[in-house]
Amino acid sequence: MDDKLMLMIPGPTPVPEQVLLAMAKHPIGHRSGDFSKVIAEVTEGLKWLHQTQNDVLILASSGTGAMEAGIINFLSPGDRVLVGTNGKFGDRWGQICDTYGLNATRISAEWGKPLDPEEFRKHLESDTEKQIKAVIVTHSETSAGVLNDLETINRHVKAHGEALIMVDAVTSLGATSVPIDAWGLDVVASGSQKGYMLPPGLGFVAVSPKAWEAYPNAKLPRFYLDLGKYRKEAAKNSHPFTPPVNMFFGLQVALQMMKKEGLENIFARHHRQMNATRAAMRALNLPLFAPDHAASPAITSVAPMGVEAEQIRSVMRKQFDIALAGGQDHLKGKIFRIGHLGFVSDRDILTALGALEATLQTLNYDFTPGAGVSAAAKVLSA
Ligand SMILES: *Cc1c(COP(=O)(O)O)cnc(C)c1O
Repeated sequence: MDDKLMLMIPGPTPVPEQVLLAMAKHPIGHRSGDFSKVIAEVTEGLKWLHQTQNDVLILASSGTGAMEAGIINFLSPGDRVLVGTNGKFGDRWGQICDTYGLNATRISAEWGKPLDPEEFRKHLESDTEKQIKAVIVTHSETSAGVLNDLETINRHVKAHGEALIMVDAVTSLGATSVPIDAWGLDVVASGSQKGYMLPPGLGFVAVSPKAWEAYPNAKLPRFYLDLGKYRKEAAKNSHPFTPPVNMFFGLQVALQMMKKEGLENIFARHHRQMNATRAAMRALNLPLFAPDHAASPAITSVAPMGVEAEQIRSVMRKQFDIALAGGQDHLKGKIFRIGHLGFVSDRDILTALGALEATLQTLNYDFTPGAGVSAAAKVLSA
């Protein structure tokens, strides 16, 4: 059925009608006074969302562009960095580092398991010469539905004193608290199609004063993603290039909506929906791929037994117009992932779980009908 597709993938995520309508306007000049006002408002809103006084710069890019900007603006060829890898996006950080000739030591965990902060501590403590320039971590590893313990890893980085902490917060920002100033996070990257309730198209990078100190000495080539340009223009409520003006209109409304809901309520909603989804999977005997203590508030990954992940996805898509994500790389066909990120209501969760039960029935999976929805309902109404 037309216009009924429900996106329960971890990006792009659903977009509210108010936001879509705000974007369905004629563009205005990006050097106009009216557009400056929009930049001023969204910049202030982004700082609120990021819980920071640091610069939050807006790029016309996907999330990966924001990650790449973080690397090339504050590091130099040959710099030693630690990169956490326990999924597709940690691997991507590693690839960016390799591309730019950094000396990257990977600290890895199996996909589905969180990174071990102790391993970071050991590397950082043994670096008495202070050669490690940055520690690079994916907070919510979307590919496996794992939330890494950024707070503890960051504590070890602070004890080291020199290294910058760079974070992919693409599916944690707006889903759980990422208190940039309280934790002293130096570079934090995110993208519009995740927790922001916007279509794809904007990348965001928050930059601390400590990272800016590294900027003048960072020797990697940069032009379009030279964050110094963005900072200079942002100070005048302007942008160095032609930004996607209509995306800014959408961002303005999305941030207004988030402010109205309140940060604490937004985080509570994501955690409640994560808990409800996980309770449902348990009640349906569908094994969760990530452990409770490291579950992503944005995405629940499930490794089904007795029923094929891809068949579930196919029936959900064809019969119920609900898009779920599959596994990536070696997890293709082994897991499916339910996104509950951004503009998702409790009703959406119940709808998806009801459709999932109907799908399981179609696929002759052995379970107690109603058990999943009922378990979720209990969590949602607690
Ligand atoms: C979606 C995502 C990204 C960014 O991917 P893009 O396609 O470049 O927007 C980065 N990290 C994580 C954890 C993600 O979920």
